[in-house]
Amino acid sequence: KVSLFWFRRDLRLEDNTGLFYAYQQEKNVLPLFVFDRNILDKLEDKDDARVTFIHDQIQRLSSELQHFGSSILVKYGNPLDVYRELLETYDIQVVYTNRDYEPYAKERDAAVAALLKRKGIQFLDFKDQVIFEKDEILNGSGDFYKVFTPYSRAWMDRFQKSNIQTLALDARKNNFYQTSPLPIPSLGEMGFERSEIAIPPLKVDESLISKYDQTRNFPSIAGTSRLGVHLRFGTISVRQLALKAVKLNQTYLNELIWREFYMMILFHNPQVVDHAFKPAYDQITWRRSEEDFKKWCDGKTGFPIVDAGMRELNATGYMHNRVRMIVASFLTKHLLIDWRWGEAYFAKKLLDFELSSNNGGWQWAAGTGTDAQPYFRVFNPESQTEKFDKELKYIRKWIPEFGTSDYPKPMVDHKFARQRAIDTYQAALQAT
Ligand code: FAD
Repeated sequence: KVSLFWFRRDLRLEDNTGLFYAYQQEKNVLPLFVFDRNILDKLEDKDDARVTFIHDQIQRLSSELQHFGSSILVKYGNPLDVYRELLETYDIQVVYTNRDYEPYAKERDAAVAALLKRKGIQFLDFKDQVIFEKDEILNGSGDFYKVFTPYSRAWMDRFQKSNIQTLALDARKNNFYQTSPLPIPSLGEMGFERSEIAIPPLKVDESLISKYDQTRNFPSIAGTSRLGVHLRFGTISVRQLALKAVKLNQTYLNELIWREFYMMILFHNPQVVDHAFKPAYDQITWRRSEEDFKKWCDGKTGFPIVDAGMRELNATGYMHNRVRMIVASFLTKHLLIDWRWGEAYFAKKLLDFELSSNNGGWQWAAGTGTDAQPYFRVFNPESQTEKFDKELKYIRKWIPEFGTSDYPKPMVDHKFARQRAIDTYQAALQAT
């Protein structure tokens, strides 16, 4: 007889809500992780850094669980098939997990819950990856917020009134299922290879966070926390981080609120995955230039701040937020290329790729999203550089040939491109 705890994007033992309750309420808690083929089969790069990262984290969990005389059951396949197989092997009492708000995950969980229900087994899911979810922050008319600022105010208000706490497993008992270490499929067995990309360490740098409002906009300095990948896969708890942030720096906490805002938007509006949040913007006639898109992807546009950003992304799986805004604006406004193309490229490359934040960030830059910057405001790469990389340190770091004849000439004229974008957006809006 076992009770399962199904790990997904919450790869830690400490302050893990679903695991905490499983451990508190059940005996013989067997942790489970499924390398989901529905997700893995879509990845193009065999050395995808996210898969290596997850694999490493599963190994870490496995060794942490050895201290409890337990292990983690690791499967590779379609989750529904995995559960069918598990039902044959184990006498499962109940399944605990943490909620995931993405459209695919919601569907998957509903299918697993239905399968279990037919066998009389409960599927219990918990809020864990956000402080507030779904309908917890609503406006005066009981509707979800469509604009960030009032949402963030309501969020802060509720945060201050709530007694948010972290949850630790009770050290006086051991409710994990006792077993010798269970095998973990290798990356090779799943058709992957180890990535060479380095993952930022899991370190909450309190002195950095306390100065975050002053340092966050400058891509040449280490002025942001680099915790994105850890928040994405739950190697850090958002409650723990938010409780620190509220003491250290409100601007930093605000960024965590943006993360929740976009998750809430995606939860209520799954259509944003393929469509503009504001439907009129689906009418924009995008330029379908593969050639221009490739220049952007490769960091060869001739706009140094754009190219530096794309090269940082290609080399490290990371790009500074300020530069993400600049390159996204450049692709959608200067090149008039569909934000979905850029979104997909980021999704492939970013270590911290998060469907909700990536979609929200792209729609913000393209002006198609929630409280997007208005379409007639087009980022000027030159003045952005002047403000945020005045000494060209970031540019020089990523473009060694900057200033030589090897560096490409600008692929479009800024003034021309700006006007073309405004005209095209205007035409789309007038057509609806
Ligand atoms: P910090 O600046 O230290 O912030 C701390 C944490 O707050 C981040 O790790 C992240 O979880 C959250 N956060 C910060 N800014 C934002 C934001 N604007 N929106 C939502 N959450 C935020 N963030 C992702 O996590 N995944 C993505 O796929 C992603 N794609 C983006 C695409 C575009 C076009 C843009 C403009 C932004 C995108 N962002 C994304 C938001 C932001 O750029 C990154 O979260 C941030 O750069 C990650 O670096 P950091 O961990 O050092 O963040």
